[in-house]
Amino acid sequence: MIMPTVMKFGGTSVADAAAFENVAQIVGARIALAPVVVVSAMSGVTDALLNSTVIANEGRVADATAFLATTFLRHKQTASELLSNPAAADYVKDVDEVEKEVADYLRLIAAHPEQYRALQDAVLAFGETLSSLLLAALLSERGFIARQIDARKCVITDDEHGRAAPLLTETFGATQAMLFPLLEMGAVPVMGGFIGANKNGKTTTLGRGGSDYTAAIIGAALNAREIQIWTDVTGVLTADPRVVPSAQTVERLSYGEAAELAYFGAKVLHPKTIQPAIEDGIPVRICNSREPEAVGTLVCAQTETTPRTVKAIAHKKGVTTVQITSARMLGAYGFLRALFEVFEKHRTVVDVVTTSEVSVSLSLDDATSLPLIVEELESLGTVRVEKGLAIICVVGEGLRGTPGIAARVFSTISDINVTLISQGSSSINFTFAIEEERVNEAVKRLHEAFFEEKVSTATI
Ligand code: ASP
Ligand code: MG
Repeated sequence: MIMPTVMKFGGTSVADAAAFENVAQIVGARIALAPVVVVSAMSGVTDALLNSTVIANEGRVADATAFLATTFLRHKQTASELLSNPAAADYVKDVDEVEKEVADYLRLIAAHPEQYRALQDAVLAFGETLSSLLLAALLSERGFIARQIDARKCVITDDEHGRAAPLLTETFGATQAMLFPLLEMGAVPVMGGFIGANKNGKTTTLGRGGSDYTAAIIGAALNAREIQIWTDVTGVLTADPRVVPSAQTVERLSYGEAAELAYFGAKVLHPKTIQPAIEDGIPVRICNSREPEAVGTLVCAQTETTPRTVKAIAHKKGVTTVQITSARMLGAYGFLRALFEVFEKHRTVVDVVTTSEVSVSLSLDDATSLPLIVEELESLGTVRVEKGLAIICVVGEGLRGTPGIAARVFSTISDINVTLISQGSSSINFTFAIEEERVNEAVKRLHEAFFEEKVSTATI
């Protein structure tokens, strides 16, 4: 059985002709890995399509159609830079065809607002259809056997337009039936990410940024050797390079470590998106399309404790903490539920939580509904809000079992006041809040302590 490599390229990797050419080179140089290519729409195209549906939904069909003219032109121009005839002319014809179909859908949206969500998905799908058609044409032009695959024939989903969930059994079956024959004949399948279809063949989308999810699903369906997410950063770094210019790429992370880091927006994969890969134990590699030879970061099932233990130091600014103190909590049940219901009601995500017998502290990064939340929390106890904080998260498998990490963290920043300390139950993160003004300094010092000093097992 062929074990393919799924290679996913995001919108910026296919932003223009030069970017497409780079992708073709990256894929072409890895033919031996049996690539299956998943591609996003050209950057900005999903947004443009989305805007056009909003305009059409206001009844302004002509404006909506006119709004997309430059988007279609951009595709045609990119193709004419990359392809010679007849491929270029064929692609231009495809774009013209799509332009007509989109205009029809926009008219439908104006006429049938009750079907907005479904029709919107149909329009959005054209972004990925056009980018995958162009990439397949380009690969063929460069001498590879490539086939554009309509992702809607592989990714079968439920009916939740805008955030559809793939039905795994159907998707796995369809994907295997579509792609293995192509792989066996040495062809490179090229498909759009983000889009799917329900069981009746109606177009759905998986939610914004959904191409990573497509890559993970396709990888799981084909039992891929590896899923590669090609972006424009060099994998996961030991710290934010804007704060620590000497930050280095982390070569290996466990799924758990990657999930902890995801919250910090370290441009790591969203844990939800790689779930299918996690379940099947398929490694996910984050690669840099500007530096294709760099190894990037490999996220895999194996947990690995390194001599330094700490793999990365992430941080996030603009954090608010809320502390609720109440003697009623002592020995009572149902209190935490009542408390969290307040946050749920106001659709506010809670990140770090610590509790003691009579108090609960938690952190939020979206404090928009805070005044209303505080008002309701006051019926449960005394509420204290602290703004202008930052969270630092030290991540590494085996943190809990390694003596001295916390001591080392705190002695490194002993002059900075630390609040809300939490060592996650996963034992791979150690998280705390400090005042935002001092976070850059703290991260720099911690990075120095954990990564820039010689490793000596005696001190770590
Ligand atoms: N094109 C879609 C978006 O912009 C999906 C993706 O890029 O992952 O959200
Ligand atoms: Mg994207």
